[in-house]
Amino acid sequence: MDCLFCKIISGEIPSTKVYEDEFVYSFKDIAPIAPVHNLIIPKEHICCANAIDESNSAVVAKVFEAAAKIAKEEGIESYRIINNCGDDAGQTVKHLHFHMLAGVKMGWGPESLGKTE
Ligand code: 5GP
Ligand code: ZN
Repeated sequence: MDCLFCKIISGEIPSTKVYEDEFVYSFKDIAPIAPVHNLIIPKEHICCANAIDESNSAVVAKVFEAAAKIAKEEGIESYRIINNCGDDAGQTVKHLHFHMLAGVKMGWGPESLGKTE
C-alpha cells in the first residue's frame, strides 16, 4: 500500500522511534509544533477516525495506553492529544494518527484551532 505511515512502520522510511509494541508505533513528528511532538499510530492501516468501528476500535485504546507509557518514560506530566480527521481538520496523511503535544503551556479556545480562513 502506498501509505507514508505504513512505510514508516515497516522501516522503509526512517523515523525517530519513541515507542513500539504489537499494536502501536510512535515516532517524532518531522515538523514539530511543540517541544514534544510525537505521533502515535496503530500498526493496522486505518485511514482516519471515520473508519473506526467495532472491528478495529481496540487499537484506539492501545494508542492511549502507549501515550501514558510514553508520558511516564519522558517525564511528561501534561500533554494534549489531537486527531485530525479529514481535509478541513488538516489531515494530510491518511493513516490514523494522534499528535501528542507537550512541553509548552497551551491555550484553549477558538484561537487555538490554527484557522486558515
Ligand atoms: P496531519 O496533518 O495529517 O494531522 O499530520 C501529519 C503529520 O505527519 C504532520 O504533523 C507532519 O509533520 C508529519 N509528517 C509528515 N511526513 C512525515 C515524515 O516523513 N516523517 C515524520 N516523522 N513525520 C511526518
Ligand atoms: Zn497506512
